[in-house]
Amino acid sequence: MSVPFMDLSRMHDPLRPALDAAMAAVIDRNAYILGEEVKQFEHAFAAYCETAHAVGLDTGTSALELALRAWGIGPGDEVITAPNSFIATASGIAFTGATPVFVDIDPRTYTINVEQIEAAITPRTKAIVPVHLYGQPADMDPILAIAAAHGLKVLEDACQAHGARYQGRRCGSLGDAAAFSFYPAKNLGAFGDGGALVTNDEATAQQVRMLRNYGQEEKYHHLFLAYNRRLDTLQAAVLQVKLPELDAWNAARRQVAAWYEELLAGASVITPPTAAYAEHVYHLYVIRCADREALSAQLQAAGVGWGLHYPVPIHLQEAYAYLGLGRGSFPEVERACAGLISLPMFPRMTREEAEQVADAVRGA
Ligand SMILES: *Cc1c(COP(=O)(O)O)cnc(C)c1O
Repeated sequence: MSVPFMDLSRMHDPLRPALDAAMAAVIDRNAYILGEEVKQFEHAFAAYCETAHAVGLDTGTSALELALRAWGIGPGDEVITAPNSFIATASGIAFTGATPVFVDIDPRTYTINVEQIEAAITPRTKAIVPVHLYGQPADMDPILAIAAAHGLKVLEDACQAHGARYQGRRCGSLGDAAAFSFYPAKNLGAFGDGGALVTNDEATAQQVRMLRNYGQEEKYHHLFLAYNRRLDTLQAAVLQVKLPELDAWNAARRQVAAWYEELLAGASVITPPTAAYAEHVYHLYVIRCADREALSAQLQAAGVGWGLHYPVPIHLQEAYAYLGLGRGSFPEVERACAGLISLPMFPRMTREEAEQVADAVRGA
């Protein structure tokens, strides 16, 4: 028996009749752009995130970029984030013309080290983009305090943290705005690409609505140059069916994490700690090991899926060579990137599967 890294069918199969009906309703009406399903999903997702507004977009990357652009951030500005994320965190910043400025991480939670943020602030700094990495919130209260003291915006990269909570508050409702991705493998995934910007600020939501739709306020009246970055109506229909399941799916992920924690006790790997402030949603279950080559070979041989998130930090990617940041710039990130490996993690994974994974990690 092999254990897949991820199995979307186990989430989709029980919902299949409802998913088919939701998609058929869109096709029956031939109404594919914006419209009812997008509006309904936006309302439902905003309510879920405990925010006033959600704007459906084509990707999470667009959500990051358009929020920053809505705030007037662009060339000459700096935006602070961590370099151990999916590349899109930095890309969302760089696409505005602003410069991503990196800060090292807390080696226990792998989220931005809040004690190093202030040293990175310059007169050009306009915003902080904390990443709720792997489904664990960044330590938001100190970040919000620093931002308030320096007049900076806070944009949460919540692309891995649908449903997570920080001190009881939903991720997405903590900063000035938050970016979500509905890439199929995310905790809430579409049947293709999708994203959303959530915020309590009406003006930000309004501006992003125009930025996603050719800069138009009313049809054929365009206030500025803008792309088409809309969430597809078909994807909104799918997401509406899946959203009510999200809390149960996240609870199922926490159950798998609890099994791993128990089954890997005493093994020579570091399991992911949950910060005292966090309700973790385990988008990924990432352990740290001394010899990743050996461990990945062991998992491979046992038929256990695995992944690397992320093997190369953003500041060492060729695309960001222009920042001039060499090896050694962020020691904790570089150390973590060399030793992290992601184990299978998905709702409806079984205890037997978790046991098989744990046995493979232990080399049994
Ligand atoms: C997935 C992801 C994104 C980008 O989302 P897309 O929808 O693929 O554009 C951004 N940041 C993080 C942390 C992500 O995991």
